[in-house]
Amino acid sequence: MINTVTGAIAPEQLGRTLIHEHIICSSPDFQYAFPQWLSREKVVEAAVAKLRYIAEKHNVRTLVDGTPISLGRDIGLLKEVSERSGVQIIASSGFYFYPCFTAYCVAPQTMARFLTDEVKNSGNGISILKCAVDSEGVTRVVKNYLETVAIVHKETGLPIFMHSHSGNRTGLEALEILTGNGVDISKIAVGHVADCNTADYAIELLKKGCYVSVDRIWSGNVAERVEVLYELLAAGFGDRIMVSCDHICCPDNIMESTPAPGGNVNSLGVIYSELLPALVKKGAPQDIADQFTLRNAAGFLA
Ligand SMILES: [Zn+2]
Repeated sequence: MINTVTGAIAPEQLGRTLIHEHIICSSPDFQYAFPQWLSREKVVEAAVAKLRYIAEKHNVRTLVDGTPISLGRDIGLLKEVSERSGVQIIASSGFYFYPCFTAYCVAPQTMARFLTDEVKNSGNGISILKCAVDSEGVTRVVKNYLETVAIVHKETGLPIFMHSHSGNRTGLEALEILTGNGVDISKIAVGHVADCNTADYAIELLKKGCYVSVDRIWSGNVAERVEVLYELLAAGFGDRIMVSCDHICCPDNIMESTPAPGGNVNSLGVIYSELLPALVKKGAPQDIADQFTLRNAAGFLA
């Protein structure tokens, strides 16, 4: 069974799944200090409009929210968005790469105990762990985060989504640390692999046995992403590629007094309306949307 914020489901119930999106990213410090920092109603409204649209237009059934605890994750908010949109939402545990005070002072084993307990006992709908390594590579704090996530993975069996920096290829070093700490490489998806607009970083990762996420997709960069995806398919890695937009549905610091956030209601649907049709036109299989966002996503999450 797979946990969502509205209850556990069978893998067959996932349907088309966007593997890495965000309802909102914000600073937990600002939300804690200034309750007026975010208008919950405005966040919900903006997100529900986008989720309803992709459900009706593109038959998306599940969205994985990639916002971990250190980016202002709010389970109650995710639940409300899911109930009002009808789209199932999977919540993440784990960390972004920003250092936090706790990660300097508290041992990975201690942090992991809390994260594991949440996954197993809270009903918070967590079915994925997040870790992140950016352009600076594995810093002292990132190493603590990676070790923590590795322990939680071993205790729960949950898959791991890794934010990585394709320019500096930092996912390779982080992958070594995770697998060196006992993580099953077939349960890791390395994200943001096509930001460099070439396929070689993704191929190097795929050869090691993990999944990759080709994401950060919007109307302006579809052509570049299509080229990378086509090369990955030609190299024979079609069964371990996932695609997603890495879209943030609502901007940070939306207060009661701020105008309602506008934007393209199809921001989460660009992969179905533009990217994958262009890939099929180039010669990819007709059912590539279901391969990437249904079968591969289910294989990774289940
Ligand atoms: Zn993201």
